[in-house]
Amino acid sequence: MFIEEKFIQFLHALQLHRRLPRGTHSRVHESDHQRTHEIFQTSTINALLEGVFDGDMTYGQLREHGDFGLGTFNALDGEMIAFDGMFFQIKSDGTASLVDDAQQTPFAVVQFFEPEVARGLDRAMDYAQLKAYLHTLIPSTNFFYAIRIDGLFTYMKTRSVPRQTKPYPPLIEITKTQPVFEFSDVSGTLVGFCFPDYAQGINVPGYHLHFLSEDRKAGGHILDCRVQRGTVRVEHTSNFHMELPTQGTFLGADLSKDQRETLHRAEE
Ligand SMILES: [Zn+2]
Repeated sequence: MFIEEKFIQFLHALQLHRRLPRGTHSRVHESDHQRTHEIFQTSTINALLEGVFDGDMTYGQLREHGDFGLGTFNALDGEMIAFDGMFFQIKSDGTASLVDDAQQTPFAVVQFFEPEVARGLDRAMDYAQLKAYLHTLIPSTNFFYAIRIDGLFTYMKTRSVPRQTKPYPPLIEITKTQPVFEFSDVSGTLVGFCFPDYAQGINVPGYHLHFLSEDRKAGGHILDCRVQRGTVRVEHTSNFHMELPTQGTFLGADLSKDQRETLHRAEE
């Protein structure tokens, strides 16, 4: 048996393809595998929680690994969202602007987005319902998933984070007073990932989603939302590529702690 080929086009776009039993095989397009179908991440979420807010990777370098994703900036200078090859910075005043290639990141997750599944959303859903719906598009919680929703949101609540000065505090100290933004009847794009629970310490288990308004002026890390209608696209990925900072405070950070509770408070 020999699967992949994008997990047999994501189990034939979730008709689940009779669960692909015995004798399954598929051609593998080498060119596909070489460039695209991996998630790329710089540093770890626990390093960010520990206040490792300066990385050595530029956005010019990050761009080589993906055109879609999320993250932040050196000195924790706002939230990042990327899609269609465009990278945006949402600063703590809530304004969004295009990222310069020379800017650097202490934590980012990107990939080249080639969704296997697209679904129209034709009923209003709050955030919990939306996450439950997304779960129906995920055949195994042991893979990585990239998610994009373009739609109309009757409610959107986001946050950003303010640029920090050294010595950097832990992330949880900053998010206690994070600027929060609320929008109603806003069209825009939601971008993010669903990581497995076992990714604890490395990334955010479960859903981590960022938002940018259609006018590209505002957005942030999503705290809550209500979607009216839209299109959801999902890509599964079974390859994960992580590169760690090789200098700076990452080297001395204590990454051995169980930060599950802290992460929950810092990111939700
Ligand atoms: Zn975020």
